[in-house]
Amino acid sequence: MLDERMSKEDIFENLKKFQDMNMSYESGRILGSMCTKPDPIAMEAYKMFIETNLGDPGLFPGTALMESEVIEMLGEMLHLENPAGHIVTGGTEANIMAMTVAKYLFKEKNDGVPEIILPRSAHFSFKKIISMLSLKPHYVPLDENYRMDVSMIEDLISENTMAIVAIAGTTELGMVDDIEKISQIAYSNDIYLHVDAAFGGFIIPFLDDERKAGLNFDFKCKGVSSITIDPHKMGLAPVAAGGILFRKQEHLDKLAVDTPYLTKNKQTTIVGTRVGAGTAATWTLLKYYGKEGYKKVVSDAMLLTRYTYEKLNDMEHINVTCKPELNLISFTSDIKDVDTLKSELYDYGWRVSAAQNPHVLRLVLMPHVKREHIDNFLSDLKVLLKTE
Ligand SMILES: *Cc1c(COP(=O)(O)O)cnc(C)c1O
Repeated sequence: MLDERMSKEDIFENLKKFQDMNMSYESGRILGSMCTKPDPIAMEAYKMFIETNLGDPGLFPGTALMESEVIEMLGEMLHLENPAGHIVTGGTEANIMAMTVAKYLFKEKNDGVPEIILPRSAHFSFKKIISMLSLKPHYVPLDENYRMDVSMIEDLISENTMAIVAIAGTTELGMVDDIEKISQIAYSNDIYLHVDAAFGGFIIPFLDDERKAGLNFDFKCKGVSSITIDPHKMGLAPVAAGGILFRKQEHLDKLAVDTPYLTKNKQTTIVGTRVGAGTAATWTLLKYYGKEGYKKVVSDAMLLTRYTYEKLNDMEHINVTCKPELNLISFTSDIKDVDTLKSELYDYGWRVSAAQNPHVLRLVLMPHVKREHIDNFLSDLKVLLKTE
């Protein structure tokens, strides 16, 4: 295959064919993704910094400075002065870093098998983490509001508890755990608490006050040790841009290894060579949108969520699972099972996804989804649910 070279023209003709196989956010048909069309200004910044490598910051001190300014700004969003952290590839890597730190801290004092307490609603990245780090999981059932049942946590704590994980914006339903209460439990038992706000981190700080009340999830809760927050979801950044923030620099430093052949002699990330472009894009977005800009993004998404929720609620044969807390709605139908409906919607060109726990269809109202898309979706849904 490598013997047959292609002309540039042929290559781009092929690239176009590959691209045409892809879905585009602009089509408005992607209703199940937590990513969205990146803002054009972010893509411009991304392109400008595409050759920079944050794994070798001595060569790219400008990008490294940008990273520290981004972490500073994310800290401000999450009520933490002097945060430690990195812009990484995404929520998965951020969660791996937090759990690795927690494991190192645990191993300093304890020889046992480390245990983590996490809700049933935890993202599947924790399945990878549990296996990679050889952890013993204790899954906490969800309460009637699909949040981690806080009353069960204390019974699960043992001398081998390494960490508690709570979610601010679950992947499946967009629910926010009662992190204030969980934080009190973690603090009084001196247990590491990680908050996975990969999705909710760029939403909750920008909700209107009424909605935000009761969604205390960040470093204001003094038991919170680290937070995952992804710019490449509601932050409008191109992939890959995830974020991890630690309350204490000494915790991040647990990950440090010597890097003799590079320009800086220590590295505290899992990935070695890593994109600087995601950091540049995130820096640009935070400066360009600021608090007011993101408030508008979030309020538009929440308005469309409310609109969709009300329409679905009024629709025959549709049962909405719960009142949305963020821009995520899930539902079932009483005449068609979830997988059938999902595949029929697929044939109509809609990309919705199904949650497993509970088994429901799920819509994520990301900024690329507009009201006319929802109207088209709802009318197709009606057709599919027509009973003869
Ligand atoms: C999306 C998501 C992740 C994983 O993030 P990636 O960027 O896909 O690695 C982790 N946790 C939650 C709650 C998420 O929604």
